[in-house]
Amino acid sequence: MSRVALVTGGTRGIGAAICVALSAAGYRVAANYAGNEEKARMFGEETGIPVFKWDVSDYNSCSEGLSRVTEELGPVDVLVNNAGITRDGMFHKMTPEQWNEVIGTNLTGLFNMTHQVWGGMRERGFGRIINISSINGQKGQMGQVNYSAAKAGDLGFTKALAQEGAAKKITVNAICPGYIATEMVRAIPEAVLKEKILPHIPVGRLGEPEEIARCVVFLASDDSGFITGSTLTANGGQYFC
Ligand code: NDP
Repeated sequence: MSRVALVTGGTRGIGAAICVALSAAGYRVAANYAGNEEKARMFGEETGIPVFKWDVSDYNSCSEGLSRVTEELGPVDVLVNNAGITRDGMFHKMTPEQWNEVIGTNLTGLFNMTHQVWGGMRERGFGRIINISSINGQKGQMGQVNYSAAKAGDLGFTKALAQEGAAKKITVNAICPGYIATEMVRAIPEAVLKEKILPHIPVGRLGEPEEIARCVVFLASDDSGFITGSTLTANGGQYFC
């Protein structure tokens, strides 16, 4: 029986590409989303991948959502914590709501999801946790104190949990994408993208979601069993200038 992979925020952007790539690699895949029904419906119809709505920032919703996934596909062997949001603003103007929403989805979401698949992975003696962090968690980004803090937190989470999972053959790794062509990046004004971002990417272009998806397929595979607690950087050579 093929392994089961669950991708949070899997119905569009990087998550959708991850779902498609894992499905092509032979996994039975479930895609979670937050509330964009139209995108989720279209994604499900186009790919045949089942979609499940819940909010990763809420522990009980994760529990209820995971039960539905397990019932339909079986226990989760590969969890990709990909769901993420931005609520940008300069720190002096940032509201507690902007802070809490971003920490809730981008950092607490990792606890909420991983905590609930961890016991099963330990019992079965196999698991893959893959956390989609960000270049901005590595280098910090003005206007994104909340997002940078959450994404840096994802890296600490990854390194600590990797040590706990190792004896049970559960690997925990992070991927730090640079700027990838998704709706999240399309929300950046064109002028900012052209003048402030692209000149700092040595390969001279945005990344494609599929390029991150291929990293996930590798980290999910048996071939990556010796890699845990690591951060795979995929940013077009943008070394924090
Ligand atoms: P998108 O905005 O394109 O998609 C986000 C996905 O996450 C959607 O499926 C959305 O669901 C889901 N989502 C958001 N909040 C929640 C929540 N609370 N519960 C469940 N699902 C949720 O994002 P990207 O594809 O651009 O980004 C994916 C990940 O990659 C994020 O973690 C992001 O921080 C990270 N990243 C992205 C980069 C980029 O350049 N794009 C660069 C570095 C990191 P719905 O459709 O229902 O809203």
